[in-house]
Amino acid sequence: MQPAAARVGETPSMSDTAHKANMLARVILNPTQEKRLLAGHNWVFSNEIREVFAESEPQAGDLALVVAASGHELGLAFYHPHSLIAARMLTRSPKEPIDADFFGKRLADAIAYREKVCPGENAYRLCFGESDGLPGLIIDRYGSILVLQVLSAGIERRLDLIAQALCALLKPQGIYLKNDHRTRSLEGLPLECRTLSGVVPEKVPIVEGGLRFTAAIGEGQKTGHYFDQRDNRAYLRPFFANRIVLDLYCYTGGFAITAAKAGAKSVLAIDSSGPALTLAKENVKLNGVERTVSFDEGDAEKALDAFALLQQPFKPDFIVLDPPSLVPAKKHLPKALRLYAKLNSQALRALPRGGYLATAACSHHVSREDFVLMLRNAQAKAQRAVRFVSLRGQSSDHPILLAMPETEYLHFALLEVL
Ligand code: SAH
Repeated sequence: MQPAAARVGETPSMSDTAHKANMLARVILNPTQEKRLLAGHNWVFSNEIREVFAESEPQAGDLALVVAASGHELGLAFYHPHSLIAARMLTRSPKEPIDADFFGKRLADAIAYREKVCPGENAYRLCFGESDGLPGLIIDRYGSILVLQVLSAGIERRLDLIAQALCALLKPQGIYLKNDHRTRSLEGLPLECRTLSGVVPEKVPIVEGGLRFTAAIGEGQKTGHYFDQRDNRAYLRPFFANRIVLDLYCYTGGFAITAAKAGAKSVLAIDSSGPALTLAKENVKLNGVERTVSFDEGDAEKALDAFALLQQPFKPDFIVLDPPSLVPAKKHLPKALRLYAKLNSQALRALPRGGYLATAACSHHVSREDFVLMLRNAQAKAQRAVRFVSLRGQSSDHPILLAMPETEYLHFALLEVL
């Protein structure tokens, strides 16, 4: 860091433009550290920076010019002096203005992409942060309500611009800030949930693939609905016909209701959250499948123990296993993989020949290879012959940047017991 003597405008957020390039902080990388950026990755880690030149101490969320050790200008980024992710690239054009038009264009692109991958739908993840060129900005659309999660200081300081762009593009009835994600603390941001503009009801009705759900906006998990499994729910439909389904970690009934509507004989859905089950029961009624779906409030791990020992009168031939992330930090990965393997082997053991297991892991720390190896260990433990019907991932409204493995976090497999 080499602050120059003169201090300049401290919070340039609303009018950041590259025309002020002479005022921008210059983030100079260590030699050869530009390789990953040149290959399309969008983060610079703090240990990759040689020095930062600025006229005054750069603040969290300031715009900065990222420069290779050779002097080659790589593009503009949100800079953070205290975050491990020190710079998040916004554009590879060093002179592009980062203004209202910039955010409006990125959001319009994000909307156009969803219109292609979720045709006719009005509820989906509308913006997936770095994958949509807006680092740290998550937007979920629930009809005319938008729910935002802000995970970077750069976006936090430009929220007004983003809200204005969203109002111009979509004219939402309300925008809600669901800023309770613990990763905000890594950027020094406080936890807060509040209505940002308009009117936001506590519960919002949505339709997903023709099925009706109510999402709890303020109180629910994530932003209210697990959109990341929407494609997998649709994919499983033909496999549910005439099945006896056990939906473990059912939340508000996404898989359970899909199964019932797709012709399952009966569905038992289990979750430990009372409020999630209250909503799940409402959702079951909304879809007219209350005769097919029943619920148990409890610990899915304990339930699996009993099913694996075949002690239950309910004998499923289709199990959905969609636990929450079991890996809070990288150091917990080996232990978490053992737990995933245990759960999956118990589920396989509980199934008859011809039974299906739809299983998922949602954690940035679990790679695709970890997931497949874990399933292999689970099948060995269960002593069952198993084949992959398919290996899948997060829904396409959560696009994965090929150059950024960090944008992939959900692994999903449909397995058949032979
Ligand atoms: N399958 C759901 C999403 C599951 S999210 C869908 O498609 O919408 C994970 C769920 O696991 C949450 O609802 C959470 O309440 C529940 N959960 C967490 N720990 C649990 C446990 N030990 N036993 C049962 N449910 C649990």
